[in-house]
Amino acid sequence: MQLEPKEIWRDALSHIQLSISRTHFKAWFSSSSIVSIEDKTITIGAKNKIARAYFEDEFYEVIKSALTTVIKKEPIIKFTVVTAVEKKTVTETSNQADLFDSVVQDSAAAIQNEYMQATQLLGINPKYQFDNFIVGSSNRLAHAAAYAVAQNPGYAYNPLFIYGDVGLGKTHLIQAISNYLLKQDPHYKIVYCSSEVFLNEMVSAIKSQNVEPFRRKYREKQMLIIDDIQFIESKKGTQEEVFHTFNSMYQFNKQIIIVSDRPPEDMPYLEARLRSRFEGGMVVDINKPEYETRLAIIQQKCEEKGYILPEEILHFVAQRFESNIREIEGALTKIGSLTTIGGKEHITLKDAIHLFGGKTNKKNVRIKPNDIINAVCDTYNISLKEIKSAVRTERIAYSRQVAMYLLRTELHMPFIEVAQALNRKDHTTVMHAVTKIENLQESNEETKEEIEELLQMLKG
Ligand code: ADP
Ligand code: MG
Repeated sequence: MQLEPKEIWRDALSHIQLSISRTHFKAWFSSSSIVSIEDKTITIGAKNKIARAYFEDEFYEVIKSALTTVIKKEPIIKFTVVTAVEKKTVTETSNQADLFDSVVQDSAAAIQNEYMQATQLLGINPKYQFDNFIVGSSNRLAHAAAYAVAQNPGYAYNPLFIYGDVGLGKTHLIQAISNYLLKQDPHYKIVYCSSEVFLNEMVSAIKSQNVEPFRRKYREKQMLIIDDIQFIESKKGTQEEVFHTFNSMYQFNKQIIIVSDRPPEDMPYLEARLRSRFEGGMVVDINKPEYETRLAIIQQKCEEKGYILPEEILHFVAQRFESNIREIEGALTKIGSLTTIGGKEHITLKDAIHLFGGKTNKKNVRIKPNDIINAVCDTYNISLKEIKSAVRTERIAYSRQVAMYLLRTELHMPFIEVAQALNRKDHTTVMHAVTKIENLQESNEETKEEIEELLQMLKG
């Protein structure tokens, strides 16, 4: 079938954009078109004289090869200038004005798609970006270091060691680095692991007496990120492996990023050579955010969640929760659920105080693993025996996944312990469950509400 000039040019543009830089493509090929096709001669319209000069001098071969691919024979190419005004008067070519945009949009969508897939594969959250990370004096240095690393991996600060208490944004920052790099290049090779994953993979590699593929997997990458390394503090074998991985990656200027809940010098069981490696790079801490930063974070989170709350409630939350941003987010969700589940239209300060109590500290209920498992069984109306059994009907499997998710996110239990609590052998089942329920909460309002209700039930 004969292609229309418009279609030929659209296909050619798709080829061309793969062969030249994005900047050049955007600068010179926007508003370009095929003006005419006569026999073997194709006349290309450039938007101005400079663009035409570029076509003739710089991109002639690229254009010719793209057209040859599309029409499957070698054309003779001529160039002319078609200004925007001229274009408007020619109806046939005016359609072509959109061609460039549609090709650019297609490729932007494809890149976005690839990026989303890459984040999924890596197991990171695309929500954690630099531009929604609020910077204040408590985290300025950590943010600056992370940003520098994202822009110049391997060379800015290597290794980068970030430490601080739970819920202060460490994971957000290191995932922001990954998101930043993957957005530019979805094929950027990162290993992201919580040290438990590292540990578990290593144990099974050693067990199967096959450490080489494991080693290769880590060392072939361009960047290694280990979250919550404190977990391997007293595991000598893993430390050894981390150290070797470290050295071999470091040698080739590959970026290494480590997160911990405390500085290297406070990890007494850590082997001296590993500790001194950590100390040899950049060590930065994240502290508890001060009032203004908390308020800014609260505003940011409300914006993301689409909550419109009165000023006084924002201030109340900033005052009431001082030391953990995850708690702040939990509080906002709870307030938000007054509207979504509680059916309230306007939330008052009184409601908020009622939810969390006044300025006194929240009663310190300590949830135990069994509380979670029981609550899940109650909610989904299944028995303890069923949830721990091998049965995999949809309802039971789903309830089990919810329990795994809550054990992990609420009690921060190691994957392997979560697996054991539910009578499972394999920790990866838990990892999948956590990701699945996290994603479901984003895509499915019902799941989100169920989890919120479960949490309310547990925390009272
Ligand atoms: P950590 O890894 O230190 O325990 P996280 O990175 O998981 O903490 O942060 C907990 C939550 O708080 C996340 O949802 C994160 O987006 C949010 N958060 C922490 N610090 C900031 C910040 N400065 N700006 C915006 N959100 C933040
Ligand atoms: Mg974390």
